[in-house]
Amino acid sequence: TAGDVAVPVDTKRGRVPTNPERSWEPERVQLMAQGLQLREHGYRTDHGILYFAGSKTRVEVPFAPELEARTLRLLDEARAAATATLLPDPLEDSPKCNGCSLSGICLPDETLALRQVPPVPEADGHAAVRRLYPAREDALPLYVQEQGAKVGKRGEVLVVSKGEEELGRAKLKDVSQLVLLGNVSVSAQTIQLLCEASIPVVHLSRGHWFYGVTQGITLRNAYDRAAQFRAASDPSRTLPFARAIVAAKGANQRTLLLRNASPRADTEVAEMATLLRKVEHLPDLGALLGIEGAIAAKYFSRFAAMLRPRDFDAEWDFRSRNRRPPRDPVNALLSFGYAMLAKECTVALLSEGLDPWWGLFHQPRHGRPALALDLMEEFRPVVVDSAVLTAINTGMVSTGDFVRSKAACVLNERGRKAFIRAYEARLDQLVTHPLFDYRCSWRSVIRLQARLLARWLRGDVPAYVGMTTR
Ligand code: SF4
Repeated sequence: TAGDVAVPVDTKRGRVPTNPERSWEPERVQLMAQGLQLREHGYRTDHGILYFAGSKTRVEVPFAPELEARTLRLLDEARAAATATLLPDPLEDSPKCNGCSLSGICLPDETLALRQVPPVPEADGHAAVRRLYPAREDALPLYVQEQGAKVGKRGEVLVVSKGEEELGRAKLKDVSQLVLLGNVSVSAQTIQLLCEASIPVVHLSRGHWFYGVTQGITLRNAYDRAAQFRAASDPSRTLPFARAIVAAKGANQRTLLLRNASPRADTEVAEMATLLRKVEHLPDLGALLGIEGAIAAKYFSRFAAMLRPRDFDAEWDFRSRNRRPPRDPVNALLSFGYAMLAKECTVALLSEGLDPWWGLFHQPRHGRPALALDLMEEFRPVVVDSAVLTAINTGMVSTGDFVRSKAACVLNERGRKAFIRAYEARLDQLVTHPLFDYRCSWRSVIRLQARLLARWLRGDVPAYVGMTTR
């Protein structure tokens, strides 16, 4: 500055661009914005300087009326975007998205692909969708199931101990969620650390009932929750959503049977196809519940045909689905797996700012994560049932891994550990996304579907499309 004259100087790391202006527009606009601020504070300024450190060069930028008008227009647009309840449209096929830190949240290509009707162009087979987020997540859940154990912290490391004995430790950056099974306590300092790091603590009872989540204060995305509640009371939105998830769940159940029990289950597979064709035409949620039950009955009537336990034992006999409490080993595995999936979906919805307890297909009921139950429908067969088949058919779990009483059958500690391994391995497995044609883990697909559900609730995409496997 000299008196009331000021010249803003902005330093850039790179070299001078070789275009005629010797600078890029965003750089000139930033400089002009600084000039406008200086003017607001009483200075006179008619140009600024861009200093490119890479080539040790100064470039003078005149504050011409056109640059000033362009900057003011962009400022208005930025203010409007900051107060808007809808996300701005993503860029189309832009190279900028490749290095953008928001790409995993923004999902530019997926959002644009879902705006096409039908979502996948039939002419070329697939939308050209880039996967702009990692195929697998680096951080994983930390399970603690030792009864009487305590979780504490040392710096940024979680330490699990029982009495004087240390049972294990994990760096905070490697943990996506802390899952406590039964009587496990967590110190107040550790809860604070986890809340601050946005790592949820998930609580399951000893009987494997998923009953709660502890998490930091998340006040983001209030508009998404408002959109969720509006959609939940609007039949023109609940019905297509329910059709999508019933169809996806049924299709995935049918695919699993087809892959693992053909030709023995061919009759049921054909009957399921007939029922699935009706889903699109059903008039209300009650009718959809009915057909969902009918498809599930066909599926579970042949579930046993997919079981090939190494330790052949009458205990593996599976007749039908029973629960609360499960009464045989296969049902015990299914129930535990569904509880784990419910917590996975609850955490995914919470991180999107949605309310897991307010469903669109499953009706809200005290203590029931209804939206998580909605989201998990399409994943039940392909994540949990598939993990149960692997655990039994490869001998990871044996009939000695259960505790039985007259009324119930639950996994013991060894069985739980073995099944958690099978379940986590399944979540980590890569799958080709049928709409976007890229590979990512099942865990990522659950996150993706939760994010796309939020998009649909907000009105960014015209439909929620369930995830189906081929
Ligand atoms: S990923 Fe989204 S926010 Fe990032 S550059 Fe692309 S469109 Fe913009």
